[in-house]
Amino acid sequence: MQFPVNIIDSFQKELPADPNHENTRRQVFKACFSYVTPKKPSNPNLLHSSPDLLETLGLTDFSKTADFLKVFSGEKLIPGTHPYAMCYGGHQFGNWAGQLGDGRAINLTEIEHHHKSWVLQLKGAGETPYSRTADGLAVLRSSVREYLCSEAMYHLGVPTTRALSLVTTGDQVLRDVLYNGHPAYEKGAVVCRVSPSFLRFGNYELLAANQDIHTLQKLVDYTLIHHFSHLGEASVETYLQFFTEVADRTLEMVIEWQRVGFVHGVMNTDNMSILGLTIDYGPYGWLEGYDPNWTPNTTDSAHKRYKFGTQPQIALWNLVKLANALFPLIKDASLLETILEETYQRIEVSYSAMMRKKIGLTFQKDEDKKLIKELTDVLQESETDMTIFFRLLSGYQNETITKGVELVKAAFYRASEIEDDVKEKWTRWFISYAKRLQEEDINFEERKKVMNTVNPKYVLRNYMVQLAIDAANQEDTTVLNELFTLLQNPCEEQPEQEKWFAKRPEWARNRVGCSMLSCSS
Ligand code: AMP
Ligand code: MG
Repeated sequence: MQFPVNIIDSFQKELPADPNHENTRRQVFKACFSYVTPKKPSNPNLLHSSPDLLETLGLTDFSKTADFLKVFSGEKLIPGTHPYAMCYGGHQFGNWAGQLGDGRAINLTEIEHHHKSWVLQLKGAGETPYSRTADGLAVLRSSVREYLCSEAMYHLGVPTTRALSLVTTGDQVLRDVLYNGHPAYEKGAVVCRVSPSFLRFGNYELLAANQDIHTLQKLVDYTLIHHFSHLGEASVETYLQFFTEVADRTLEMVIEWQRVGFVHGVMNTDNMSILGLTIDYGPYGWLEGYDPNWTPNTTDSAHKRYKFGTQPQIALWNLVKLANALFPLIKDASLLETILEETYQRIEVSYSAMMRKKIGLTFQKDEDKKLIKELTDVLQESETDMTIFFRLLSGYQNETITKGVELVKAAFYRASEIEDDVKEKWTRWFISYAKRLQEEDINFEERKKVMNTVNPKYVLRNYMVQLAIDAANQEDTTVLNELFTLLQNPCEEQPEQEKWFAKRPEWARNRVGCSMLSCSS
């Protein structure tokens, strides 16, 4: 096989490996990863690959060869490579869970193209030493969700890991979707995920929890050299700058989630990338009606720890856990606390700046906070579609103030409810908004243009991905293709695709997979 790009494999070469090469489940100490070979699929079939990412990686020509499917389904190894699973722990739903690790992710190799390095990782390619009680496999349903959403997020400008290919394996996988004692077979699938690194907060946490400070330092130094080299040589000062930058990036990522209405669903520390990338697309969802209390994850329905409205605060909680893990290298808690305190202060500032952009304000005034609060309050008075509302708002010309409610009417799930009190609140809000807009220098056309780059027209609504899954399960990839193409340009007008600029249909309101998702994947 001619694999056309440079293999670098720095992680394996520079960090300690688990000496045990058997694929048995175990606790691993003093190591960052374990070697493991992907499971061979019985009858692999390529459903989709991302042309944009193929190009970025220098794999476009390779994707036209028969070896492409073999490599990215796990059937054949890239010559000279030694796949491995990463060792990490994590705090799950607020509690330390100990060792977790890549239970169904296998890093094939790390490549370099145009001076950038990328790790190619198969998700769902069989068990690893970290599979614990599970099978290491993934079903088509969750793989379509991860594949479409990571590429959609990328094109929305949200920091994220990417997805290169989606393959069905030809194997059956047993899953109990609702955890209610009704397991059924589903189609198995493998997604190739791509990222400069798949390191998570949990990688550092596990080494600190095991009091393996030697390996912890090696891992932090590795991370600095390969991913934060602009910070300079390792020192306590650099470690602090590193933590500051991870905090900045993490906050930036979550504020972007708030911009587009994305709810991750499982913000455990093992699902927090050290590079501030959205990672591990599981029971995520998109806000339809604007509701800060919403989470798609049924596993979290009682406490709603990971609901939309508290994602920034949870990011901070996770950063506290990372700070604890880095403490042995810094040995001065007050320095870490200062960074955390500054991050806490910035949540409000970053959130307000993002919301100002969403409503087309180009500079900051004290009263903007109130204007934004009044908007997010009234948005919840009656179910109002977040994406449609903000998109339509860009059409607002202040000289026609009374038409505000009329303009955004298509965003209301029950327009008949916009009466009396609620209508009054909306009218009052539009009056304040119009007044504020008059202080802006930017004209209507310019404002509209800018707002339309911040407020997407098309997002991967929960029911849309479900339609793609239903069809793919029947061997039909038309919807998958259509959505993939649509979401490459989420902020552009696509008149022939107007049907996707619509509220969630009623059938999807309470359907499993659309509004309710479990961790079963
Ligand atoms: P998640 O909540 O999907 O981030 O997964 C939490 C942990 O469970 C990680 O260590 C995963 O690797 C592991 N895991 C999830 N699903 C499976 C599976 N089907 N087989 C093996 N490990 C899994
Ligand atoms: Mg995970």
